[in-house]
Amino acid sequence: MRIVLVGAPGSGKGTQSENIVKKLGITHLATGDLLRAEVAAGTELGLKAKSVMDAGQLVSDDIVLGMIKARISKLENGFLLDGFPRNINQAQALDALLEEISQPIDKVIYFDVPFEVIKVRLLARGRSDDNEATIDKRGIVFEQETYPLLEYYTLQGKCTTVSGAGEIDQISENIFKALV
Ligand code: AMP
Repeated sequence: MRIVLVGAPGSGKGTQSENIVKKLGITHLATGDLLRAEVAAGTELGLKAKSVMDAGQLVSDDIVLGMIKARISKLENGFLLDGFPRNINQAQALDALLEEISQPIDKVIYFDVPFEVIKVRLLARGRSDDNEATIDKRGIVFEQETYPLLEYYTLQGKCTTVSGAGEIDQISENIFKALV
């Protein structure tokens, strides 16, 4: 199964992704994690990405598409994309790539969480891009760039909205219901 999770930073995508990939035996691909690994390793790509990430903005489409392309074509058991695509251009590039290998996206889950809940969660998490100014910036970027994916995938008949507020196990259950 090939799944995309769409949700604002702090909506709980990472936590739920772990549960889904474990249950379905598919690969978890999180562009944020891949980028943080590049930063930690001090690569040229990581150095370029760090200031953009700390400012709460999106790293260039070329960089993230390159990371995804290098990995996705090797996956045979399905995958879950977490934090990618982040804008319409990335979604179109992903569709084109998956069409080439005849492995289209099956389902898109949109995590719906009120921004006030998100803010409390992120301030408690304490990552280097979890200060108040960056959180606000990431919220704006999400609304402007990522939220339109909801319509993009709804038009493809693939999108289900799941409330991301509440207990972790209850949210997981709602996701599994949406996936069948
Ligand atoms: P995340 O862990 O998904 O919240 O991502 C952390 C940061 O990495 C984001 O605020 C962006 O700066 C960058 N990032 C992650 N995924 C993408 C993507 N698909 N496109 C552009 N930038 C991304």
